[in-house]
Amino acid sequence: MQRLHPTGPHPESAERLRVLLESVEGWQESGPASEQDVARCHDPAYIERIREIAGPTWLDPDTVASETSYEGALLSAGAAIEAVRREGFALNRPPGHHALPARSMGFCLFGNVAIAARYAQAELGVERVAIVDWDVHHGNGTQAIFWDDQSVLFVSLHQWPFYPGSGGPDEQNETTLNVPLPAGSGDADYAAVFSTVVEPAVGRFDPDLVLVSAGFDAHQDDPLAMMEVTEDGFRELARRSAALAPRAAAVLEGGYNLETLPRLVHAAVEGFSAG
Ligand SMILES: [Zn+2]
Repeated sequence: MQRLHPTGPHPESAERLRVLLESVEGWQESGPASEQDVARCHDPAYIERIREIAGPTWLDPDTVASETSYEGALLSAGAAIEAVRREGFALNRPPGHHALPARSMGFCLFGNVAIAARYAQAELGVERVAIVDWDVHHGNGTQAIFWDDQSVLFVSLHQWPFYPGSGGPDEQNETTLNVPLPAGSGDADYAAVFSTVVEPAVGRFDPDLVLVSAGFDAHQDDPLAMMEVTEDGFRELARRSAALAPRAAAVLEGGYNLETLPRLVHAAVEGFSAG
């Protein structure tokens, strides 16, 4: 998997997975998602387009793909599915939460967390899923996939205004909750909105399963954003997220500082175990 979907000099690089797999003991390989799994969230013509990429291609201004990207994207979605089956933490790339039903966006090809949510509903007898997305960017792709699906509550905490521009305070519906936060927000700000907004909303929704879009680009040393979350902050976010439902799993999204990413993921895994 580490050789797949090379992106060259790009923040979303194969190096991210290499440094993670080197630092995590006991990780296990998982298999690819099936086309049927992906088709629960994406249009067949778009899946076909990714499958047929023959060489380095910019799919949009941020997202480059090549002939191994389809295989890499299926493995990334497959890791998310395996995480939900085992209630684990998927160490996967490319990330997924910006991917729209019919196009790539923001380094994302297939909506891994969305695919895992629909898999859990189709194959594991799960009815109500809450997705909590604390990547620093708004999870616009996940939001688009579930906008009209009242069986999935989508909650996104993100820097705003910021890429991708969506996720402002007025962008809500019964099962879509956006929590925009100003640049410079840190552990205390995230803890406060968890108490006042996230926990009450997810509690009312009463999910069978919580899936976390675990991005680490809200960290104070991340090169792509301007938030101030610390390693302890991610541990606490993970603990409180896992406590939101009887079953929980997490999927990696962003996080672009190769020095800090392994210990942030480690802290989050600790937090999930304690949740
Ligand atoms: Zn992000």
